[in-house]
Amino acid sequence: MGFDIRFVLWDNDHTVGIFQPIEGRGMTLLIFKNKEKKMTYKVTCKRGKNVTVADRVMVLKMVKRCMTELNKPQHEIGFLRQKSFWKPLEVRIKKKGQRSCAMKDSWISIDVSRYHKGDRHLLEYAVYASDPVIGERKEAATPESMLFGIVAHEVAHHVQFAYGPYTRMYKGNFKKPHGHCFQDIYRILRSTLVNAELDAHESLAAA
Ligand SMILES: [Zn+2]
Repeated sequence: MGFDIRFVLWDNDHTVGIFQPIEGRGMTLLIFKNKEKKMTYKVTCKRGKNVTVADRVMVLKMVKRCMTELNKPQHEIGFLRQKSFWKPLEVRIKKKGQRSCAMKDSWISIDVSRYHKGDRHLLEYAVYASDPVIGERKEAATPESMLFGIVAHEVAHHVQFAYGPYTRMYKGNFKKPHGHCFQDIYRILRSTLVNAELDAHESLAAA
């Protein structure tokens, strides 16, 4: 691979994001830094042979937006405060027509096939599918916003399992896969980031 890019996505008091291609399509590090506390949080990435660099950049940007939002003090998840909370995350990106998923606290897998087919149906679990904020969208504004919903869903699972046990409000209820803890975290992401893009066509129609 003949490219050597290293660019800063974000720079403020608390976080710096860097995409750092390491070798071929192997791994990329997406790094958050808390300069005051000298802490570094790493996200590594693997992509399938048929997954492009553009897909990888897009998915990692989505992961970063989600993690940056959940890092904010008002959400009380608190992984900026204690070093022990900073768990590594591996993002696996594939294009195999499989489900996206999260495996406990260590990795998430995102399948970009439906995005590439132009699919705009964001599927959600029956238990909350009709919730106006975190529920299903049969026609998202764009395939990209549908994919953003999938990424947010899987990041919510990662944070649920990696950080839930250490939080005041989730330590007793983080285990149920699509229960209160998951829904709460996913609701933060849908309401602050995803829905504005997912429902963009509706706000245009209403204007
Ligand atoms: Zn799920």
